Amino acid sequence: MQKTALITGITGQDGGYLAKFLLEKGYRVVGLYRRGATDTFTKLKEHGIFEKIELIDFELLEFSNICRIIKKYQPDEFYNLAAQSFVAASWEEPIYTAQADGMGPLYILEAIREFSPHTKFYQASTSEMFGKVQEVPQRETTPLYPRSPYGVAKVMAHWMSVNYRESFNVFTCSGILFNHESPMRGKEFVTRKITDHFARLALGLTQEPLELGNLNAKRDWGFAGDYVEGMWLMMQQEKGDTYVLSTGETHPIRDFATLAAKHAGFEIEWQGEGVNEIGIDKKTGRTLVKVNPKFFRPAEVELLIGDPTKAQTVLGWKRKVSYEGLCQMMVEADIKRYKQQKVMATV
Ligand code: NAP
Ligand code: GDP
Repeated sequence: MQKTALITGITGQDGGYLAKFLLEKGYRVVGLYRRGATDTFTKLKEHGIFEKIELIDFELLEFSNICRIIKKYQPDEFYNLAAQSFVAASWEEPIYTAQADGMGPLYILEAIREFSPHTKFYQASTSEMFGKVQEVPQRETTPLYPRSPYGVAKVMAHWMSVNYRESFNVFTCSGILFNHESPMRGKEFVTRKITDHFARLALGLTQEPLELGNLNAKRDWGFAGDYVEGMWLMMQQEKGDTYVLSTGETHPIRDFATLAAKHAGFEIEWQGEGVNEIGIDKKTGRTLVKVNPKFFRPAEVELLIGDPTKAQTVLGWKRKVSYEGLCQMMVEADIKRYKQQKVMATV
């Protein structure tokens, strides 16, 4: 029988990749989005799946709405990907972030417990929960030490999902996903900010240098398309559990910028230190990257590197896209988009 999956955050990066993956597996996919004044379905359209998804209004903070949806659809699988997902914004909107990212998942768990206890629940947990890391590399058993309101709120949702599994026998999975990127990543995140800017520099659409914050922070970056498969695999096991999805590699932000520049046709040389550090074009001496303290964070997560052994051995999960392949894919997609926009503007 055809399975029904509900996905919150359907308009976001992961929502689109997961919906595409589940449609290919033959699922009926119901996409939960929050109504807005502008078209929020651009990613689903770019994936070519907009017409194939049933879309319904959903708001993480509206318990009555969540109850009605769960009651009506009685889904086999519920993937909670919706969140205020940008760490930097969580210091500006700590209360909203705590409500949406901490309380929102609890509303869903309560609705499942009450109206559809057979529904399997996936919670989008995050490596930001490791924050000031207590162990290197980080794994499922590493103690949590979140460093932002976002991280703290996600810790609450993570433990609620574990608790509903242990207290009420609800099938819950918590995927502790390390940073995962793609051409669909929001431009406020550092990888896409970098690839988008170098695409514009390469096409002569800007002459301005790229302004970044902390170049020394290190992240474990994978490809979103690989990570949604891991989410699904977690939900196919006999019991719900917690799994880390990561690459096991870590790279500084400076390194990602150097690589993106290379794929856009520039060779960067780094000069200076701290706020005075700049990345110059080796050929012309032009400044391509500079530091702007505006992008520093009140508390930083300096190093993330995950150990995906459990997911690899228990789920048989394996990422397919390398770090370099990911960066190249993102730069090429941004260049292609700007070229298409140029063509559209001339017709
Ligand atoms: P994203 O692109 O920012 O998407 C977030 C989604 O949540 C959007 O569809 C957004 O809708 C929706 N949303 C936000 N607030 C909402 C609310 N109050 N009610 C209903 N919907 C709401 O994030 P992503 O990269 O796909 O990440 C998916 C999930 O994984 C998030 O929970 C994130 O925190 C978590 N995560 C991400 C990463 C990563 O590296 N990408 C790593 C670990 C965990 P609008 O389009 O209307 O804004
Ligand atoms: P996060 O790991 O979820 O916070 O993902 P981000 O892509 O937003 O940030 C990753 C790292 O890049 C953090 O340590 C940031 O401090 C660092 N970073 C440096 N410059 C920037 C910038 O201009 N924008 C963003 N978003 N992050 C930056």
